[in-house]
Parts: sequence; structure tokens; C-alpha cells
Amino acid sequence: MSNIESVAQSYQHFNPRAYLQNNYVPPRADFSNEDSVVQWKLRCLADTCATGEIAGQTLVDIGSGPTIYQILSASEHFAEVVLTDYLEVNRAELRRWLQDEPGAFDWSPYMKHVSKLERTGGTWQEKQQRIRERVKKVLPVDVHQSNPLGEEMGTASVDTLVTTFCLEACSPNLQMFNKALGNITSLLKPGGHLLFIGALEESYYLAGEAKLNVVPVTEEIVRNALSDASYKIKEFKTYVMPPALKVGVDDVNGVFFAWAQKQDSQ
Ligand code: SAM
Repeated sequence: MSNIESVAQSYQHFNPRAYLQNNYVPPRADFSNEDSVVQWKLRCLADTCATGEIAGQTLVDIGSGPTIYQILSASEHFAEVVLTDYLEVNRAELRRWLQDEPGAFDWSPYMKHVSKLERTGGTWQEKQQRIRERVKKVLPVDVHQSNPLGEEMGTASVDTLVTTFCLEACSPNLQMFNKALGNITSLLKPGGHLLFIGALEESYYLAGEAKLNVVPVTEEIVRNALSDASYKIKEFKTYVMPPALKVGVDDVNGVFFAWAQKQDSQ
């Protein structure tokens, strides 16, 4: 029987460097191949942010893990960016990059690529510097708590939420996935936006010694979860994982991207 405690237990073996190696270097992050999954994700995020509708004071990324690619476009439109993760090893990995310490993961191919996508001028080095300055906090988070960020950030305090590959990867079942979405939504101001990326029809992934169970979700399940959590879906896109990118580190079949807006009534 899988429950929140056993999921938490399985994360104690999560290895950030192995996770980065599995997902954020070629072939999955191949910047010479337009069809690579990382390019697709970055394009979805950049296109949405280019509408000008995603902007405000505070952007919070829920379950950042050891990665920052997911905030590269949105960060440009907020005064303050908050990264979060359940595990201290991931928060330490993020701080290593923020402080430009030796051994930090190299996100420069991502900076270069996103700078080109955005075509807003300036160099990728300037973008990287801006992002390091905008990230004001790296906080612990638990999406299974009714207030996932505790006293640090309360109900309706956030203009935009980003979350990528987190909820389905840390919920023991669909019921808890739906509840976790409700929990993080409570952080969002009415009318606030959610940029939501996740795995489709995945049941596990690897991160070093750790094998993490994932709740398999479909487009329909995600759409229903968003509606139940009081969102209006503004855009929904899916990506089919090509056979060449099925590299034995998970059993993912695809990826979804949803842009949703919290309705005023909640
Ligand atoms: N967002 C990153 C990405 O796009 O690659 C990392 C996603 S990783 C698959 C799932 C993340 O969920 C891990 O960083 C893990 O530490 C985090 N996590 C595990 N349990 C959690 C919980 N209860 N609340 C919030 N995040 C949790």
C-alpha cells in the first residue's frame, strides 16, 4: 500500500545529480534537435510568457527539485521568484547554482537557448545574472500540507505558480494528486496563473539509487483536476515521448503543459 509516508521514505534516496544526468543533458536536452523534450517544454513556457499575461510581484515554483529551467521565461516578469523543494539535497543544489559555486550544474545551454527564443535582446549572461538576483528564497515545501509553504507564504499571496513534474511524482494516488493541486492553489491569488507541466502515463522514474513511484495521469485526468481546483484552462498541449528519448530512466509516455487561471470566485 502506497501512502504519503512511503513516498516520503522513497525520496530519502533521491540523488539530484543522477536526476539531472537522466533528464537535463542530451539526449533529452539536445539543443540541436527541435523535437527534444526539453526544447518543447522551454518553448511552451516562453510562448506563454510572451503573451504578457504572466506578470506580477511574486512567482513561486513548487517542487523545483535541482532544476531552474522551468522559471527561465517567467522570472523576467516578476519582482520576486521563490524556488521550493521538499528535500534539502535539492535546495542545496539550487543554492549552489544561485551562488555560482564550484560543482553547480551548468544551465548555460538553457540560458542561451531561452534567450534566443525570447528575442528580447541582451546576452544570456545578463539573463542568468537577472535570474540569480530575482530568486529571493529557496524554501521547503510539502504539497500534502494544506499550507504547503507553512508560515513563509500564506493563502492567496502568490501571483503565479509554476510546477513541473512534481504533483504526480509525490502523490501516492489520484485522490492525493487532486488534493495536492488544491493545496498549492490556495497559495494563488484569485485570477492568478498556473503553469503546470508533468508526465503523462508514467508509473516510475529513477534518480540514482531511488526508484520513485508516479501516479499515472492522462490529459483528461489533468483537465478534470484543474477544473475541480477552480481553474479555467487557457491552454493545454501534449508531447509524445519519441522512442529515442525512452532511455530507461522512467516509463513516461508523454508530457503535458497546461496554462490555467484561478477563477475569481475562489
Ligand atoms: N521540478 C523539477 C523538474 O521539473 O525536473 C523536479 C521534479 S522531480 C520529478 C519531483 C520533485 O518533487 C522532487 O524534487 C522532490 O523532492 C519533490 N517532492 C517530493 N515530495 C514532495 C512533497 N511532499 N511536496 C513537494 N515536493 C515534493
